[in-house]
Amino acid sequence: MKTVAIVPAAGSGSRMNRDISKQYLSLAGKPVLVRTLEALEACPGVDGLYVVVPSQDVASIRDDILPPWGLKKIAGVVPGGKERQDSVLSGLEAIDRDADIVVVHDGVRPLISADLVERCIRAAAEAGAATLGVPVKDTVKEVAPDGRIVRTCDRTMLWLTQTPQAFRRDIIERAHREAVREGFRGTDDTSLIERLGIAVRMIPGDYRNIKITTPEDLVVAEALLAARREAKG
Ligand code: C5P
Repeated sequence: MKTVAIVPAAGSGSRMNRDISKQYLSLAGKPVLVRTLEALEACPGVDGLYVVVPSQDVASIRDDILPPWGLKKIAGVVPGGKERQDSVLSGLEAIDRDADIVVVHDGVRPLISADLVERCIRAAAEAGAATLGVPVKDTVKEVAPDGRIVRTCDRTMLWLTQTPQAFRRDIIERAHREAVREGFRGTDDTSLIERLGIAVRMIPGDYRNIKITTPEDLVVAEALLAARREAKG
């Protein structure tokens, strides 16, 4: 079974309020994106990595930024699109035709463990499509634009979705094809599959698998990395 990973990292990082995109920011001495790629390389089940970056950065990432880190599984650096969904599609168009399983993992989730990636891959091989997620801990409200609470959601059934998400290649390709045809836009890949009526399996993830989106996330990620180093002794 051949498994490839697509790593969307073509966001502009506008929520970070910095000139540099969040995937290139330094996290304990290494770019966030490099930490994410190292975490995926540590998974024996992942054969190749396709990194999706802003089109103007493809040459510098491929030729200057990545080589010094000695990554072994980079199979391609490809240009991304306007939204995350466009970037994943660009990755899908670049992957090996003989891949059986496709893993999609955000370039800004550097704290993922190899064990959880492998669990997600196994679930996709069995069920066709799977994602990591965690149950919500807070009470969730739906709020109108004027600030008025519309309703309180029943949190017993609510999960926050993380990546990795993993799929049989035929399923994710079909889902993206149909989304383009029907003009559907989703903020993750499983939403493209759910709407086809195909079941997606939710795998319990890890609250530490954070997405680095705003400046305080970097502080949390540094602390989590330090705790991990301490635990290892
Ligand atoms: O914007 P969001 O937080 O959903 O981004 C998740 C991941 O998708 C990030 O790694 C980001 O770089 C990537 N992304 C992308 N192309 C875009 C927008 C986001 O690859 N156009």
